[in-house]
Amino acid sequence: MTENLGVIGKRNNGQRNNGQRNSGRRSDGQEKNGQKKNGQEKDGQRNNCEANTGEKPAQRSGVERVVHVSLPTLYGHFRAVGYLDHDSGDEQVALVHGDVGTGGDVLTRLHSECLTGDAFGSRHCECGDQLASALRAVAAEGSGVVVYLRGHEGRGIGLLAKLRAMALQAEGLDTVEANLALGLPVDARDYGVAARILDDLGVTSVRLMSNNPRKREALLSHGIHVAEQVPLLIEPCENNITYLRTKRERLDHHLPHLDAVAAHWP
Ligand SMILES: [Zn+2]
Repeated sequence: MTENLGVIGKRNNGQRNNGQRNSGRRSDGQEKNGQKKNGQEKDGQRNNCEANTGEKPAQRSGVERVVHVSLPTLYGHFRAVGYLDHDSGDEQVALVHGDVGTGGDVLTRLHSECLTGDAFGSRHCECGDQLASALRAVAAEGSGVVVYLRGHEGRGIGLLAKLRAMALQAEGLDTVEANLALGLPVDARDYGVAARILDDLGVTSVRLMSNNPRKREALLSHGIHVAEQVPLLIEPCENNITYLRTKRERLDHHLPHLDAVAAHWP
C-alpha cells in the first residue's frame, strides 16, 4: 500500500482552524501538546521579533495533522493518521483503509475511547467488539475510516469517573443514573474534532457505523453529510444486557436485536 498524503490532504484549506494549519514542519511529530521541545527552528528570529514588538506569538488552535504511518493490524492494513487537537491538548488518531478522498459515501466509525472495553475486553460494555467489527467492516469494504476519539471515556467523563460509575452500576444504578449521581453529565462527548479529522481526510459524506443517533446529528451539525447510518449490533451477553437496555431506553440507541434476547435474561 502506498502512503498518499496528497489524497488525504487534498481538501485542506485551513478554514476550519482559523487558517492556522501549519505548513507541515511538524510532520516529524517531535512536538507535543503544542509545546516546542527544543526551539531549534527559527526561534531566534521569532524571539527577536517578540522582543521588538512585545507581542506574544499567536496561540495555535484547531486540529493539526502531525504524522501518518503504515499500520498493519489483525483486521487489515491501515494508515494511522495522528492529529493534535490544539484546543483540548488531546492526541487523536484515525485509521484509514484504502482511498477515502474520492468523494463517495465513506464507511466510517467514530469510536469513543473505552480502555476497559477496547484494551481489556471488558464485558461491561460492547465497545471492544464494536471497534473490532468496525475495523473488520472497513477492511472488507476496501476503504473507510475509524476515528478513535480519545477523551471520550465514559461518554466524556474520564476513565476514573467511568470506573466510579461502573461501581455504582454494580450497586444497582443504571449508566445514566450513575453519571448523574457523580454530579457529571450523562454525555459530555464532543464530535467537532472528528468532523475536522474527516474533513482533513477529504471525507465529506459518510455511511456511519453507529447505533447512536447523537453521533449522526453531531456530524451533520459540523458539516459532514451522513448518507446512511449502518447498525453496529453486537450480540449481548449476561454482563452487558442491562447496560445495553439502558442505552436503548434512556439514550435512544437503535438496538433492535435486544428484542430477540428478551426471553433469555430478566
Ligand atoms: Zn465501553
